[in-house]
Amino acid sequence: MDITIVPLPTEKMKTKIADQSQLGFGKYFTDRMLVVEWKATQGWCDARIEPYAPFVLDPACLVFHYAQEIFEGLKAYKWADGRIALFRPEMNARRFNQSGDRICLPPVPEELFLKGIEQLVSLERDWIPTASGTSLYIRPTLIAVEPVLGVKPSDHYYFYVILSPVGAYYAAGFNPVSILVEDHYVRAVPGGTGEAKTGGNYASSLKAGLEAKKKGYDQVLWLDGRERRYIEEVGAMNMFFVYGTHIVTAPLTGSILSGVTRDSVLKLAPTLGYTVEERQIDVHGLMDDIRSSKVTEAFGSGTAAVITPVGKLCYKDEVLQMTGGKVGEITQRLYDTLTGIQTGKLKDEFGWVRFVG
Ligand SMILES: *Cc1c(COP(=O)(O)O)cnc(C)c1O
Repeated sequence: MDITIVPLPTEKMKTKIADQSQLGFGKYFTDRMLVVEWKATQGWCDARIEPYAPFVLDPACLVFHYAQEIFEGLKAYKWADGRIALFRPEMNARRFNQSGDRICLPPVPEELFLKGIEQLVSLERDWIPTASGTSLYIRPTLIAVEPVLGVKPSDHYYFYVILSPVGAYYAAGFNPVSILVEDHYVRAVPGGTGEAKTGGNYASSLKAGLEAKKKGYDQVLWLDGRERRYIEEVGAMNMFFVYGTHIVTAPLTGSILSGVTRDSVLKLAPTLGYTVEERQIDVHGLMDDIRSSKVTEAFGSGTAAVITPVGKLCYKDEVLQMTGGKVGEITQRLYDTLTGIQTGKLKDEFGWVRFVG
C-alpha cells in the first residue's frame, strides 16, 4: 500500500525543545503522524502521513464507550554514525495483532506497520534527540471510530502512529524504585485481556496506582487474579528476581503482557553467564527469599525505562529492602548491555536492530 505524504506547511512546524534534559516522557509530539483507515467495505485504505493534528470524532464513536483500542510502544535511536535504529520492531508488529485479535480489531499487515513507522520516523528524523539516554518514542494505536452505541466490533477504524522525543528515563540517576504488592485489586484474570496491550487494562489499574503513590510507593506489583498469590507484573513492566546468578521471572500464563524487553533479557542473560528461569513465583516464598537474602536483586523490564532497579518491596505492611537499596550488579549490566545494543555502542549479536532507510 502506498502512503500519501501530505505536505507540511512551514507555519505548522513546531519549535523543538532545545534542552533535551527537559523532554520528560510523552509530553511533546513531532510535526507529523501516520493515519491508515480500515473500513468494512474496503479493508485498509487512505494511508497517509499528515501534519500532527487533533482528530474530529463523533461523540458516539465506539472507542469512547466500549474501549475497543490497542496500542504499542517502541523507540528509535539516532546512532553516532547518523543511522536510525529500531529495536525488534517486528515483535511489536506481531504483538499489536495478537492484542487486536483479543478485542476483535482487524489485523494491521506487518509490512504496513513496519513500513509506515519507518517512513514516518525517516521524515521526522530531525526530531530524534541524541543526548545520552534520550530517544524517539513511537506510539502506534488502533481505535474504533464507528459512531454507534450498540456493543459490537466497529466497521471503521483508525490505525495511527505518533512520535514523541523522550528524555533519559533516569534523569536523576539510575535509582531503585519502591514497589507495593497489591493484594486487593487485580489487573487481569485468566481468559481476560491481561495479555493484550489495551487501554482498558490501564484504566482499571489507575486506582491501585494512586493508592500506592499515597503510601509512598512508585509502582504496583500485581498478583494473579485468581488466588492473589503469584507474582504477575508491574504497571508497564515485567518483573525479574535475581538469586545470585540465577534470574527468575513469571511465565506467560495468559494474564501477563509478553514484553519485548522481557524476551530480550531472557535471551541476553545466558550469553552474559547467567541462568534464566520462567516459573510461578509465590509471593510468600518470595518474601522469605528476600528476608533470607537469597534474592540478591530485583528489576523490571519495559521499553520506556528498559531496565528499572527495584530496591524496596512492601507486602501486607511488611517492607523489605533488596540489594541494600542500591542498584544490583546484574541489573546494571543488563541495562548497560541492552541500551548499548540499542544505541550502537555494543555489537548486536542477536540481529535485534533494524535500521530506518
Ligand atoms: C508494554 C507493557 C510491558 C512491557 O513490554 P515491552 O515490550 O518490554 O515494552 C509490560 N507490561 C505491560 C502491562 C505493558 O503494557
